[in-house]
Amino acid sequence: TMIVMELTPFGVFALMAWVAGTLGTDALISLAQLVGLNYLGCLLIIGVIYSSMIKIIAKLPVVDFFRGIVDAIAVSYSTASSNATLPVTLRCVERNLGVSNSVASFVVSLGATINMNGTAMYLGLATLFGAQIFGVDLTFADYVLISITSTLGAIGAAGIPGAGLIMMALVFGSVGVPLETIAFVAGVDRIMDMMRTTTNVSGDAAVAVTVASMTGEIDRAEMISADDV
Ligand code: ASP
Repeated sequence: TMIVMELTPFGVFALMAWVAGTLGTDALISLAQLVGLNYLGCLLIIGVIYSSMIKIIAKLPVVDFFRGIVDAIAVSYSTASSNATLPVTLRCVERNLGVSNSVASFVVSLGATINMNGTAMYLGLATLFGAQIFGVDLTFADYVLISITSTLGAIGAAGIPGAGLIMMALVFGSVGVPLETIAFVAGVDRIMDMMRTTTNVSGDAAVAVTVASMTGEIDRAEMISADDV
């Protein structure tokens, strides 16, 4: 592992050089757009879907929710691993948001493995990116297939850095997008992985809070208020 870690910067440099040399520097602009869209998609999931769940179903203040999980957000962004963040997510959800231990330990632990909305979105995005770069025509049935395989891929992906990259082969294979796309995006995958992991981890916390409030397993007085932070 140490040898691989030491060699990674050289490998990434070689991949980027291959991309620029084979497809021209314009390809690097496409990669920058992919990174930007990945961040935008994740922010939409967090800002629209999770916030609506917290506001409408759990009936809790959205700002207090995000303040409560700020440690989990920081750790997930820096480690790019849902599994490594699991203890911090559990602590935030129980201590800061008042979710009972029984709900938190079940929902958050299960979510760290199977609830990966950021990864699912990214797999779909990367497939469309590969199809455009390599000129693959997609039909409506292909889009449906991409949605299904991306979701299954995200469920199957482990909560570790780079798991989404490996799952791309599954989605690409289902609609005939060349596997070379994986080498193409590998150089910038880590920076996207950080954001999708943050999306995955915030989703676990949002679901735990929502389930706890639906089942009456949340101590609302425990939830930190914005003034306490
Ligand atoms: N790193 C992500 C996670 O741990 C999985 C992925 O690669 O998308 O949640």
